Amino acid sequence: AKEEGRGRWTRYDPAMDEEREERNNMELDLREAIERQEISVAFQPVVDARSLDMVGVEALARWTRKGHGNVPPDVFIPIAESTGLIDQLGLCVLRNACLALRQWPDLSLAVNVSPGQFRDPAFATYVEDVLHDTGTDASRITLEMTETYFIQNPARARGALERLKQTGVKIALDDFGSGFSSVGYLRQFHFDRMKIDRSLVESLGQNDRALDVLKATVSLARALDIPVTAEGVETDVQVSALKLAGCDLLQGYFFGRPMSEREIAARRGVQPVS
Ligand code: C2E
Ligand code: CA
Ligand code: CA
Ligand code: CA
Repeated sequence: AKEEGRGRWTRYDPAMDEEREERNNMELDLREAIERQEISVAFQPVVDARSLDMVGVEALARWTRKGHGNVPPDVFIPIAESTGLIDQLGLCVLRNACLALRQWPDLSLAVNVSPGQFRDPAFATYVEDVLHDTGTDASRITLEMTETYFIQNPARARGALERLKQTGVKIALDDFGSGFSSVGYLRQFHFDRMKIDRSLVESLGQNDRALDVLKATVSLARALDIPVTAEGVETDVQVSALKLAGCDLLQGYFFGRPMSEREIAARRGVQPVS
C-alpha cells in the first residue's frame, strides 16, 4: 500500500500507474504536436435558419496522434487545459482558422476559448495580434465560452469580458442549457450570442416539454437581443421545431459535419470574384 494525501491508505494498483503513464505520454506527444504545428482545424457549417445558407463556420481542433490515430478534443483539450498547453493550442487554432477565413469573405468564424486562456490578462492582446497578423476583421469573429469561469469568478470574468469585447470580437455563451445556465448570467454579462446545447436539441420530439423549454429559452434571448444558434441539429423534425421557436442560426450533422478547409470550399462551389 502507499500513502495518499491526508493520510489515507490505498492498495497499490498497477493499473493506476499505467493510466498515469499513458496520460504522461499523451501529454508529451501533445506538447510536441503543438510545437510542430500539427494541430489541425476542422470547420463545421453554421446556417441561417431562414434561408439555410451557410453563413459561418465553427473551428474545431483536431489531433492525429502518431501511432494512435485521431484523439477526440474531449480527451486532448482537458489535458491541454491542465498542463497549460491550452494557451498555445488555442491561439494556433485561432490563427489557422483566420488564415482559412481569408478565402471566404462572406463567412463568420466561431472559435472556442477555454477558461484558462480567458483568465490570462494578456489574452485580449494575443487575440488582437492574431487578427492583425492575419488581416482579419474582428467583427467577423465570435469567441465561444462556457459558463464555468463566469460562475466561478464573476468579478474577474466581467473585466476580462469587457476587455475582450473592446477588440471588436463577439462573445458567445456556449452550451446553454447544459449546466446551471441561469437567467442571472445573461443579465450580468453581456453576451453577443447564445448557443443552445445539443442536449436540449436532442430532447426535441422526445417530449413536449422540451419544445416549451426551448421556446422559453429563445424568447429570453430575444428579449435581451441576443441571436440564438442551436447546435447538434441532426433531423428535419428538429430543424422545423428550432425554426418555429425562433432560432437564428443552426448547426449540426444535418447540415454538415466538421470538415476540412477544402471540403468547405467545395461545398460553397465556385464563388463569384468580387
Ligand atoms: P463544442 O464547442 O460544443 O463543439 C460542438 C461539438 O459537437 C463538436 O465536437 C462537434 O463535432 C459536435 N457536433 C456538431 N454537430 C453535431 C451533431 O449534429 N451531433 C452530434 N452528436 N455532435 C455534433 P468536437 O469537435 O468533438 O469537440 C468537442 C468539444 O471540444 C467542443 O464542444 C469544445 O468544447 C472542445 N473544443 C474543440 N476544439 C476546441 C478548441 O480549439 N479550443 C477549445 N478550448 N475547445 C475546443
Ligand atoms: Ca463551441
Ligand atoms: Ca457547444
Ligand atoms: Ca460542448
